[in-house]
Amino acid sequence: MSPYSSADFNINPLMFYYEVTQACGLVCKHCRASAQEQPADDELSTDTALKLIEQVASFPRKPNICFTGGDPLKRADIFTLIEHAVKQGLSVALTPSATPLATYEALAKAKEAGVQALGISLDGPDAEVHDAFRGFAGSFAKTREMIEAAKKLQIPVQINTSITQRNFNLIDDLAEYIAACCGEGSGGVMMWSVFFLIPVGRGLEEKRIRAADYETVFETLWHHAQTKPFAVKTTEAPHYRRFVLRQGGNPLDVPRPFRTQTDVLGKRQNPPEKIRSRAPLGITDGRGIMFVSHNGTIYPAGFLPVACGQFPKDSLVDVYQRHPVFKALQNPDNFKGRCGRCEYRYVCGGSRSRAYAVFGDYLESEPDCNYVIGQDKLYKMES
Ligand code: SF4
Repeated sequence: MSPYSSADFNINPLMFYYEVTQACGLVCKHCRASAQEQPADDELSTDTALKLIEQVASFPRKPNICFTGGDPLKRADIFTLIEHAVKQGLSVALTPSATPLATYEALAKAKEAGVQALGISLDGPDAEVHDAFRGFAGSFAKTREMIEAAKKLQIPVQINTSITQRNFNLIDDLAEYIAACCGEGSGGVMMWSVFFLIPVGRGLEEKRIRAADYETVFETLWHHAQTKPFAVKTTEAPHYRRFVLRQGGNPLDVPRPFRTQTDVLGKRQNPPEKIRSRAPLGITDGRGIMFVSHNGTIYPAGFLPVACGQFPKDSLVDVYQRHPVFKALQNPDNFKGRCGRCEYRYVCGGSRSRAYAVFGDYLESEPDCNYVIGQDKLYKMES
C-alpha cells in the first residue's frame, strides 16, 4: 500500500475516535466527556455500534480506530466491539481508565480480542500530583499497575498527559518517570502524547498555559524526544511540528531506537537510526481526525463540539467527505488571522478546537501560538 499522504485527509481520516460510553468511575478535572458514573440513556446499542464499526472500515483507506470514553471497560460488550473491528481489518487502540475494572485479566482479554495498543493517562510524576488531577486516591498506583500489565502482555502503551498550569513545570520529572516505565520487546511505553488543555467540559476548571510557555514546553519535549527511549508527540498543539522543523528536526523522523513507526498502533522497531514515523504532517481536527460520541453524534474531533451529523441516520463517509464543516477544516487556506497567513499552516494550522473554544470560530487563529509570521519566509510549504 502506498504511504499515507495529506491528500488522503480529504477522503478519509487516519484516526477515528469512538467514545463508546460516557460512563467512568473517575472524575478527572479536565475530562472532555464530563464523564458520569452510569451510562447515558442514549448510548448506542451493541448492534448499532457494530454497524458503526463496519462503516469506519468502509472508508477508502481504513482508519485506525480508538475506543475511548468515559471508560471503555464500562461497556459490557467492549470485547465484542474490539473483535468486530479487528475482523473488519481495523487497527484498534483502547483507552481504559485507571479503575478497578482495569485488571490484568481485562487487559489480557483486550489483547486476545485484538487490541494493538493501550492509551493510559498519567498527569503527574507522583501520586500527589496525579491523584489530585484525577480526583481519585490510588489512581497513580493503578496506572503503574496497568503499565506493568501491558509490559507483561507485550501490549504497546501510549502515555497521555494533559498539560495545564498545574503540572507544566513537572515535565522533566514526568519524562524521567515515563522512561522508567519503558519495557523490553513490543510491550510497555512506546509513545508519550502530551495534550494541551482545551477549555471545554470539565477542562474549564483548569487553567491552560500561556502562549510563551508553550515554547518552553516544546523545547523540553524536543530534548526528551531525542534522549529518551520513547517517541513524543503533542495533541491539540500542532505548533510543536513548527518548533521541531525550526530546530532542524523532522517531526516525521523518529531518531532513536525503540520508537514506534505508526503512532500508538505501531510495533517497536529494532534500532535503525531514523525511522519515518506516524502520520503525514498536517493532521488536525477534521483533517485526518473524526470523532463519534456515545450517542452517535459525529464531530471533527473530541474537543470540537460542532455536530456534523448523527449515526446511523448519516453516513460517516459522507459526513467526512462532504459536510461543509469538515470540508472547511480540511483546507488550511480557509484558516483566518495569523494561522491563515502562516507559512506553517499546511504542517501545523493550529488547534481548531482551541480556536473554537476561545473565539467561537473553528477557522480562527490558534490563540496559544506566539510565532512571528513570516520569520521563516523560505520555509517550503507542503500543500
Ligand atoms: S500561527 Fe498558526 S499555523 Fe503558524 S505556527 Fe502558529 S499555530 Fe501553527
